[in-house]
Order: sequence, then C-alpha cells, then structure tokens
Amino acid sequence: MPDCDVIVVGRGLIGSATARQLANAGANVALIGPGEPENNHTHNGLFGSHYDSGRIVRILDPIPYSAQISKASIEHYRPLEKLTGIGFYQEVGFLVVTNNKYYYSDIEAVGKTFYPQAERIPQNELAERFPYFNFPADVKAIFQQTKAGHINPRKQIAAQNKALEIYGGTVIDDVVFEIKQKDLVVSVRTNQEWIDSKKVILATGAYANSGSIIPRKIDFGVVPHTIVLGEITMEQLPNLNGTPSLSYRYGSDPMRYIYFMPPILYPDGKFYIKIGHSNGDPMPNDMNTLTSWFQSDGDMEKVEWLSETLQNLLPDVKFASLHSKSCVTTKSPTGKQFIDQFDEKQIYAVLADNGQCAKSADEVGYIASEFVMNGRFPDPYRRADFRIKYSA
Ligand SMILES: Cc1cc2nc3c(=O)[nH]c(=O)nc-3n(C[C@H](O)[C@H](O)[C@H](O)COP(=O)(O)OP(=O)(O)OC[C@H]3O[C@@H](n4cnc5c(N)ncnc54)[C@H](O)[C@@H]3O)c2cc1C
Repeated sequence: MPDCDVIVVGRGLIGSATARQLANAGANVALIGPGEPENNHTHNGLFGSHYDSGRIVRILDPIPYSAQISKASIEHYRPLEKLTGIGFYQEVGFLVVTNNKYYYSDIEAVGKTFYPQAERIPQNELAERFPYFNFPADVKAIFQQTKAGHINPRKQIAAQNKALEIYGGTVIDDVVFEIKQKDLVVSVRTNQEWIDSKKVILATGAYANSGSIIPRKIDFGVVPHTIVLGEITMEQLPNLNGTPSLSYRYGSDPMRYIYFMPPILYPDGKFYIKIGHSNGDPMPNDMNTLTSWFQSDGDMEKVEWLSETLQNLLPDVKFASLHSKSCVTTKSPTGKQFIDQFDEKQIYAVLADNGQCAKSADEVGYIASEFVMNGRFPDPYRRADFRIKYSA
C-alpha cells in the first residue's frame, strides 16, 4: 500500500498551493521541499524564488489569462488567512503608468473584462493623487483600487503549509533525489527515506531540468532577475502612506520596464521599497550556474540602473541604504504553466511560473489538483494550453 495519494516535490509558492488544493479536495498529500537557506551567499544546495517579503498583486495585466488566474487566486486570500490565522495580503492598490500606447490599450482592454471599475487617471491628476512619484509629462495611468497591492510570499507559503496540515497532509523538510515507478506505485527518495505514493507532482521551479528527477527535460527558460531594496527611515514613512504597487513602462524597450513596491517591513525590522525589472534573457539552468547566481547580489549594471530609476521616481526620498538581490523566474514558450502528465507515467508537472505565480499560485494549484485528481481541467481552462513542451 502506498504511504499517500500524492507527493508534491517543491515547497515554493506553486508546490505549496497545489498540495493544499489537493488536500482540500480530499487527497492524502505529502509536500516535500527544503526551507529557506540561512545565508544565500554561502548556501550550496537548492534555492527558491520566494525569499522575499513582497510580491505584487494585481488583476490588471495585458494578457487575459494572467488576469484570469490572478483574479481567481485573489478571491482565495482572505479565506486562507482566516483558516490559518496567517496574514499575508495587503490591499494597497496597483497603479499602471506608461507612455507606451500598446501596453496601455492592452491593459485597458483586459481590464474591461476582469476589472471594469479600474480608474483612468490623466497625467495632470497623477501628482495630486500620488505626490511622492515623479513621472514625465507624456504618461497615462490606470489605477486598480481594490483586489490589488502585495502579498508576503514567505507568509503565503506558511499559510498554505498550515492549511495543508489542517486538511491532514504532511510537510516534509527535505530534498528529493530520485523517483522510481513500479506498476502503479511511485517512490521518491529523500535524505531520510523512500516514500511510496500513487502520484508525484514536480513543482521544482528553476531546478526542474537540473538533477535527475524529471522524467524528460522540458523546454523552458530560466530568467535571472536583479532587485534593489531602498531602506526607508521611520521619519519618511508617513510621507509615503498609501503608496500603491506600481508597473511603470516608459518607452518601448522591454528590458527597461520596471515594477515597484511600496515600503514593506522586512525580517530585519526595517522598511524597504523594492524596484525590479520585468524582463530578461534566459541563462543556463544547470545546477552550478543556478547556485552561483542565487549566491550573488545580482547584475551590477542593473543595480546601477535600478537605483538611479528608483531615485528619479521618488526624488524627495533619501534612502538610508540601498542593496541588491538576485532571483529567477521561469518562462514557457506557451505563456502558460506546464500542467501535465509526463508520458505514460504517474508523474506530473506544475512548472513554468512565467513571473506571475506569487499572486496566482493558488489558481494554478487548483487547476493542477483538478487535473491530477479527476483528469480534467476546470472551466474556462483547456488541457491543450497546458501541455508540456519538451526540449529538443
Ligand atoms: C524578483 C522577482 C520578483 C517577482 N515578483 C512577482 C510579483 O510581483 N508578483 C507575482 O505574482 N510573481 C512575482 N514573481 C514570480 C514568483 O515569485 C514566482 O512565480 C514563484 O516564486 C514561482 O514559484 P515556484 O513554486 O514555481 O518556484 P519556487 O518558489 O522557486 O519553488 C520551487 C521550490 O522547489 C524546490 N525544489 C527544487 N528541486 C527540489 C527537489 N529535488 N526536492 C525538493 N524540493 C525541490 C526549491 O527548493 C524551491 O523551494 C517574482 C519573481 C522574482 C524572481
């Protein structure tokens, strides 16, 4: 007899959401993955893309699918907070500012379906409404007042893991090194033991193709990201009261599109504003390259540009300090997650976050749990859109 119905490998945002959704649907679930390293500069093992205190939450997006899955996920935040007693969501709003007419019109079009109450703000009113920001004269803005702001990804994972346990599942702090299937039993080997299950789901983020647990390599890109955190003193905090999360696209160079997060309390007891870039070119995704990237403080050219952009955006703020960090997102050629079964095996994938699975992990987990448990995709999703593309 297998020890459980489903093992989920990877305790990041997607794996944790998937495990909780499966357990909520009645499966006996074990979720396996390591916690956050104590020191990213010296850690030699696996890393995750969620070691932060802020991720943007928004429905407004140029892509309808992204708006769809974030809207559905946001509906689950408050019930999850209530169930677990762990707060992770701050509803401070989300502002889009751009002079790029294509981005603006795509956001506007998608917003009409998914968030029709979005407010269009002319440039001359921007300074009055958001006096701390400095924008050029030729921008336009759209504001999402509700169901938007930011989540703390570490706390969201804590809430998902606690909910999993409430539903009778198990969280195992370990790494999976090997997966074997014999008839209808799939066994995974951790540092401690072999665990048998009926099905295994890989939610291993950027590490999907490195190591040997994936049955067949997938076609996805691992994109390096650099962020800059600007420290805000307690004296400056009141001037920034009510600052929303922001997407700012000036000009047409996607490599210079930025996102911005309002002051957030970090574990060191200080408040930081975060700025990061939206796009990037993929890097090799072997274990050594991933390790040295995660151990680093990011790309120093980007640090310089982001620091300058941050200061231009908030000219009256004197940052007490600036520091940078590295992270990655994973990108599929389809623009959607790979939610699929590997060939004939009882092994499944929930991979390729496409930079959207802090806010939207919960709906992705729900789609995956429906597919793994019942073999179907819930409306309005279609199985064909989520099939794995394998690397050549
Ligand atoms: C700088 C940055 C900013 C972002 N901002 C936003 C934002 O504002 N809004 C938003 O919605 N999204 C944002 N994202 C994206 C979001 O953080 C990701 O979509 C999300 O973290 C991906 O979750 P995941 O579970 O796929 O990957 P991860 O969080 O990386 O989790 C994968 C986990 O699998 C584990 N693992 C790997 N191999 C094994 C193994 N063999 N055994 C056990 N465990 C294993 C890893 O240790 C890791 O913990 C941002 C990402 C970055 C990098």
